[in-house]
Amino acid sequence: MSKQPTPAKNLSIWDDARKMIEKARRDGVETVWDRFEQQQPGCKFCELGLTCKNCNMGPCRISIKENGKMQRGVCGADGDVIVARNFGRFVAGGSVGHSDHGRDLIEVLEAITEGAAPDYKITDEEKLRNVSADLGIPIEGRAPLAIAKDLVDACFSDFGSRKKELGFVSRVPE
Ligand code: SF4
Repeated sequence: MSKQPTPAKNLSIWDDARKMIEKARRDGVETVWDRFEQQQPGCKFCELGLTCKNCNMGPCRISIKENGKMQRGVCGADGDVIVARNFGRFVAGGSVGHSDHGRDLIEVLEAITEGAAPDYKITDEEKLRNVSADLGIPIEGRAPLAIAKDLVDACFSDFGSRKKELGFVSRVPE
């Protein structure tokens, strides 16, 4: 007997989303929820982060052997290395994806400073001053546009930079 799909009321807290899920089911349109159910049960190794396919000697998966010792990947990486390395790659991949949005914002700010984006303006001068000060840009007695120009330069120089650290590291909490 085929398994009944999870009721739409259990898949979203929103009425409109539930209605869309029900309509998709009536119309035979596959959604993320259908694919999720098809993938169950999830791979236990993957859920623990104990799989690796970072090179062509793998893919590898790590379990505890009968003698209680932890298996290693072909390259010798143990479970701790694989979990830490996967986590580092998740963070790096996510950061790279979002850094492009950051660059878009710098481009808009640059256009504002050049008078090339008349539909945009600096609405939060306090934030401009705070961020600029954190990046070591002088703010005392200076006009917002002058500060913004220096901020644009400081931010652009963090992309494709040969510097030893990124400016925004100064804003990371301890
Ligand atoms: S554990 Fe090592 S050998 Fe296995 S896929 Fe990852 S990097 Fe390659």
